[in-house]
Amino acid sequence: MKTIIFYLTMLCVVSFALANKAESQNMKANTGGGSPDPQLSQKDNDYLDRQSAVFLDSVQAILAKYPPVLKEGKERGYAKLLLDAVFHEKFAAFRKSAQDFYHAQNGKLIQELEGLKVSSGARVWKVYDMGFIVRTSSVTMAFDLVSGITSGSKEFALSAGELVRIVKQCDLLFISHKHADHAEKAVAELFLQAGKPVISPAQVWPQDSIFSRILHPKPIAEKVHQIKLAGNRTLEVICYPGHQGKSIDNNVSLVTTPDGITVAHTGDELNEGDFMIDYDWMDQVAKHHKVDILMPNAWTMDILRVTKGFNPKLVLPGHELELGHTVWDRLPYWGDDAYLELTYKQLKASKYPVVALIWGESIKYIP
Ligand SMILES: [Zn+2]
Repeated sequence: MKTIIFYLTMLCVVSFALANKAESQNMKANTGGGSPDPQLSQKDNDYLDRQSAVFLDSVQAILAKYPPVLKEGKERGYAKLLLDAVFHEKFAAFRKSAQDFYHAQNGKLIQELEGLKVSSGARVWKVYDMGFIVRTSSVTMAFDLVSGITSGSKEFALSAGELVRIVKQCDLLFISHKHADHAEKAVAELFLQAGKPVISPAQVWPQDSIFSRILHPKPIAEKVHQIKLAGNRTLEVICYPGHQGKSIDNNVSLVTTPDGITVAHTGDELNEGDFMIDYDWMDQVAKHHKVDILMPNAWTMDILRVTKGFNPKLVLPGHELELGHTVWDRLPYWGDDAYLELTYKQLKASKYPVVALIWGESIKYIP
């Protein structure tokens, strides 16, 4: 009997100790200190790593099968929902799968740029944020080209080598305004070193030695500036005097290429509250120009009115998933219109063809 009691007591002690050990391990797993998100445990971080990898694999599989088209099917919508899920996690850009996805997408973009000639119309690529590249038969233009360093992760951002290859394929750079998700000095420097024009408002790097090498055409509605490019080519450029709120000057560029394609890029244009003076010229653009492609910031308050002002044949919105912004402010592909007080939904339901590209993707435009 005594032996049995001793045996049972020992069993209790051992199982209690084991249970205690499991519990303390559990406690450890639930506390913070992990990487990249220090508020989560390493186990939690590892789970998010695995989830990000699986979701982004699915995105790549969907995008490979369903490239951008004028009337996008629901499959691309699902891919964008997965992107919204992955990149609305604070530390997304610090996860290897996210970095690999971004570099793979832009790796494809670089290869296409290096190999692809446009014989008519235009091809438009989205790099990151409001960074677009437009190629026609006569010219390749970059707008607000940045590396993605605003994400805070050097590993996420495009490397100097990747940027050099992109810049080599472009003829000039337009910078809409001074914010870091649109203006990156290292990128502008690459253009200037290659003898290619950079155009920006005077508020961009005014105290820097780079300033004197940048072109600052006076932003006046309907004033046409002739921008000379190598090979005796001339671009006709209007810098509309846009704003992001009262204090930030924002060039809204309207460019007509030598082969007659007209594109417009709005930077971070914002008419808001009691400061709506930009509608004075914006509502009138289509009266003066036949606009082929408009690249508006998708988060601008009344994107439908902006679009009507330009009356373009194709709308390619940008600025989704800016990882330098806090989570709620990383404009999702699904919209969040009600909260953000936008008219994006109305635009998508309108007569205008709207294609929201993903990093590295492109679409062909035929007039
Ligand atoms: Zn911005």
